[in-house]
Amino acid sequence: MPDCTRCLRLKLSPCKAADSSLSCNNCRRASVPSCDVFGVPTSEIQVLLREKRRLDREKQETLSKLLRLEVQSRALEGRAERALSREVALIEEEESVEVPPTDSSGDSSGGALPSDWALNPSAPGWVVDPSLLGDLGSVDGTAGASQGS
Ligand SMILES: [Zn+2]
Ligand SMILES: [Zn+2]
Repeated sequence: MPDCTRCLRLKLSPCKAADSSLSCNNCRRASVPSCDVFGVPTSEIQVLLREKRRLDREKQETLSKLLRLEVQSRALEGRAERALSREVALIEEEESVEVPPTDSSGDSSGGALPSDWALNPSAPGWVVDPSLLGDLGSVDGTAGASQGS
């Protein structure tokens, strides 16, 4: 039987253990609980495994957090780019068309659409986003042409 780690480290001999004991004679005398003369104690293995699992879980959580942050970061980046291009477009528009910006603060009561148009389900076409209607018109011509051939 090989000497336990403590006996090897402290150069103690002889390292002997009774079958009924989990520690060698030297460790027993010193009241050392973690004698590994019979191998690493089960409890220590469990502690190590639990620690490993904890680290694995932490690693996993950190990784998913990292991914989440990456996604958020890209989303913000995309929004920033869109906002920037919109800003640039607005500036270009303002530069090309020399019209003073309209003051919209006084016109908050009314909208472009009648108020019942958006709220009334029975109104024709209420489901369709009005901004899509413009696109449909332009798509129609090309779709019809490709179907003919
Ligand atoms: Zn020993
Ligand atoms: Zn020992």
